Amino acid sequence: MKLLIDEAVSLLREAKAKHGDKLVYSCSLGSQGMVLIDLICRNHLNIRIVTLDTGRLPQATYALMDAIRERYGNVLDILFPDSKAVQNMVHEHGVNLFLKSVENRKLCCQIRKVKPLEKALHGMEAWITGRRKDQATNRAEIAPVEDDPVYGLKKYNPMRNWTEKDVWAYIREHDLPYNTLHDEFYVSIGCEPCTRAISMGEDPRAGRWWWENQDTLAECGLHVSSLKAPKGECESGDGI
Ligand code: SF4
Repeated sequence: MKLLIDEAVSLLREAKAKHGDKLVYSCSLGSQGMVLIDLICRNHLNIRIVTLDTGRLPQATYALMDAIRERYGNVLDILFPDSKAVQNMVHEHGVNLFLKSVENRKLCCQIRKVKPLEKALHGMEAWITGRRKDQATNRAEIAPVEDDPVYGLKKYNPMRNWTEKDVWAYIREHDLPYNTLHDEFYVSIGCEPCTRAISMGEDPRAGRWWWENQDTLAECGLHVSSLKAPKGECESGDGI
């Protein structure tokens, strides 16, 4: 565990030293996100932490935002979608458009997640993610630092060598706040209507957009560049 922590902190320090205020951590508030927030705050790394409030998050996620604020102070920069864009989308397609087609689901993710993230990344040089190699087979080759051609940034992956077990060991050892939906067999927690608990042995991604044909559920898209998926595709896993 000490090696994993040292490796992660060292990469975070390197990123901060290279990019200063042009570095941002996009946090999904998942379990590895709790570790990263703790490492950033505990080591006074002064890295900007952003998270997305899509407007459709579970109450447990909002409770977690409060718990983070209570523990670390006002460290979360919460991003919101453009209200006019949401209004137009809902006017045209309805509030639950994502249930009607894959295209609608992608549109909803584009407006509620991808666009606000793009705005936050604008003018940045680098971003940090909580991606781990063990989250999906197509993440097996995550490097410490990658080029992100979609956003034109460097992408740092300090959690790449952590397993889920390591993450939870750290959370327990340091008594970190976490999303209580994890206790109800939710693995990847995103928007409330698009996230469900999974059964033992099920692919973690089965908890997201489960009503769609599984072939269309390529890994979800806030980290599309490393997966060569189309821009704006919405991902599961590390992204919200
Ligand atoms: S996860 Fe669902 S509700 Fe959230 S932005 Fe995507 S389609 Fe919309």
